[in-house]
Amino acid sequence: GAGRFAGRRILVTGAGKGIGRVAVAMLAAEGAEVIAASRAPDDLASLAAETGCRIHAVDLADAAAAAAMAEAALPVDALVNNAGIAELAPFVDTTAEMFDRIMAVNARAPMLVAQVVARDWIRRGVKGTIVNVSSIASLWGTPDHAAYGASKAALDSLTMTMAQELGPFGIRTNSVNPVVTLTPMAERAWSDPAKAGSMLARIPLRRFAQPEEVASVIAFLLSDAASMVNGAILPVDGGFTVA
Ligand code: NDP
Repeated sequence: GAGRFAGRRILVTGAGKGIGRVAVAMLAAEGAEVIAASRAPDDLASLAAETGCRIHAVDLADAAAAAAMAEAALPVDALVNNAGIAELAPFVDTTAEMFDRIMAVNARAPMLVAQVVARDWIRRGVKGTIVNVSSIASLWGTPDHAAYGASKAALDSLTMTMAQELGPFGIRTNSVNPVVTLTPMAERAWSDPAKAGSMLARIPLRRFAQPEEVASVIAFLLSDAASMVNGAILPVDGGFTVA
């Protein structure tokens, strides 16, 4: 096929809904052969019908299952660690169980999946590229997002270490850090109009992101146009982090 990603195999996690789903459609439309990994089987079935992607149902909270999914997806040329969960609670009410659940999906799984992929690239001499989907919650003290913010800060730290250790092999790793993006996750976290209003007032562009506006930055970072970009923590936030 034609397009920026013709002939490239790209693994996208959390592909069933939201940002991941839009990214799969965008990458497939630009020629990529996408392997979509997510949890709900019905989301995956409809995504395969819409985009022609390959699918893999997996619960990334299970460390062994996450690594096995990545092994089964090989060989790939690029990886998008997009799957993530948010559970909101005031800091003082954040439980150990909540913290562990969020860390397992948002930080541990991206590490485990990327390890499998990177080992294979190093072995074969492939200069692959990885995008980790983080959040502005890693950079800002987001109310009620203690565990979530910690998990995304952990993910940004992984991005920096991966950029450092994998860079010498020609492997690039970057984070995209979106502000509130209009997906099912954001509907759960930001449906309170008072909360949404005060957040919007802090975003210089005065609006939330559309999933397409995050997916297009993921695609840019995966593309050869970003060939010198490695270890970036890239806000996609309408100016939120500098306001
Ligand atoms: P959604 O909740 O809309 O979609 C997330 C997708 O990831 C779903 O398909 C979900 O599957 C899948 N997923 C979640 N947990 C697992 C798991 N354990 N194993 C496999 N798949 C899983 O989220 P968004 O699209 O909004 O978010 C995508 C990424 O962007 C996340 O990392 C999120 O933290 C980040 N982000 C989102 C923002 C927002 O405002 N929306 C802002 C900043 C960052 P299922 O539904 O079947 O569980």
